[in-house]
Amino acid sequence: MPILDEKLGDIYDEVLRRNPGEDEFHQAVREVLDSLGPVVAKHPEYGDAAVIRRLCEPERQIIFRVPWVDDAGNVRINRGFRVEFNSALGPYKGGLRFHPSVYLGIVKFLGFEQIFKNSLTGMPIGGGKGGSDFDPKGRSDGEVMRFCQAFMTELYRHIGEHTDVPAGDIGVGGREIGYLFGQYKRITNRYESGVLTGKGLTWGGSQVRTEATGYGTVFFVEEMLKARGDSFDGKRVVVSGSGNVAIYAAEKVRQLGGTVIACSDSNGYVVDEKGIDLDLLKDIKEKRRARVSTYVEARTDARYVEGGSVWDVACDVALPCATQNELNGRDAATLVKNGCAIVAEGANMPCTPDAVRLFADAGVLFAPGKAANAGGVATSALEMQQNASRDSWSFDHTERRLADIMHGIHDRCLESAELYGKPGNYLAGANIAGFIQVADAMLALGVI
Ligand code: GLU
Repeated sequence: MPILDEKLGDIYDEVLRRNPGEDEFHQAVREVLDSLGPVVAKHPEYGDAAVIRRLCEPERQIIFRVPWVDDAGNVRINRGFRVEFNSALGPYKGGLRFHPSVYLGIVKFLGFEQIFKNSLTGMPIGGGKGGSDFDPKGRSDGEVMRFCQAFMTELYRHIGEHTDVPAGDIGVGGREIGYLFGQYKRITNRYESGVLTGKGLTWGGSQVRTEATGYGTVFFVEEMLKARGDSFDGKRVVVSGSGNVAIYAAEKVRQLGGTVIACSDSNGYVVDEKGIDLDLLKDIKEKRRARVSTYVEARTDARYVEGGSVWDVACDVALPCATQNELNGRDAATLVKNGCAIVAEGANMPCTPDAVRLFADAGVLFAPGKAANAGGVATSALEMQQNASRDSWSFDHTERRLADIMHGIHDRCLESAELYGKPGNYLAGANIAGFIQVADAMLALGVI
């Protein structure tokens, strides 16, 4: 690990001491602190007002019991979380994750990242995150509905269009947002569209929200390529995961002239040299909620590899779109050896610190999630704008707004990197640009 300067080192030690056992949260904090040396040197006012120390402590953390009844009549208990991390720029904003791995450390890492991501979008949104250790895999629609209703029965008192606006993340898509919104409406007797984003198109949702994270990641990479006089034309791309982010990243790569040759799920990966058939993948994942292994039943010249790492497949561009720490140092070494030139994180923190260091040493361009995957939350902010004005925009208009936002984030990363002596370093640029905007707002708002 690089050595932190003394003040940042003290802050990091305090984070470790105050948040024992929350490894992912430590990792996310460390990644930001590693970039802030030149910023604190230039701006002693941030240190004087303890801005970074305040940023590392969530404004509010809510942990609650979620009791529900399964189809067999058994009472089940899950744990629900909402971490309202920072509201200097706007109401807390960030998704809900339903996955068995969810615990406080995961929610805090995601919430912490969200602060800087949301700041980078240039939209008026603070950072928060929530979720539950509930596993939707294999659960019936009725069970998912009852779980969502139980979850919202506590969450509703903490959220609101001017307070905290949840959305989806892993395990939470249109179906879950529907059940959550329905229960919020029932409890509060208010049709408050702006309380959740990722809603369906017939009840206050925005065009492009489903596609936005994946599309946005690819728009960001397009800017990285353009900055080097290059394009997606003829590029071999590997995407990990096969959820929302992966599917729509693949769709946009195809539209821009690249070929996505592989994708994965937690059991294994599929390689289709002719290009992943997206209609088939959507049918498997969105309609049938099945595994990617079934892909090869319909496409017989594709191959399925059980276990193993999708990063063994040689590519020009790698888009990790599955989950945190899915791409490690070994995977990074393989990608470098195979000539991969660009890695952009569609998921949140999918690359381990080892992997990120290896990319830097090998001159691989690396776009961190808080910049590259910010299109999802940015489009959520567009959904909030439409809800506030009781308007609804066309697909084309919304997609153009998304492309402009990603272009803006790309340029802001490069400008900040340059200004603080790290030219071309997207990781440093994203952390610095995201931080400065929040830090300045915190200074202006006083010690609160
Ligand atoms: N969960 C997404 C993210 O990681 C989207 C959050 C939102 O739309 O509020 O940014």
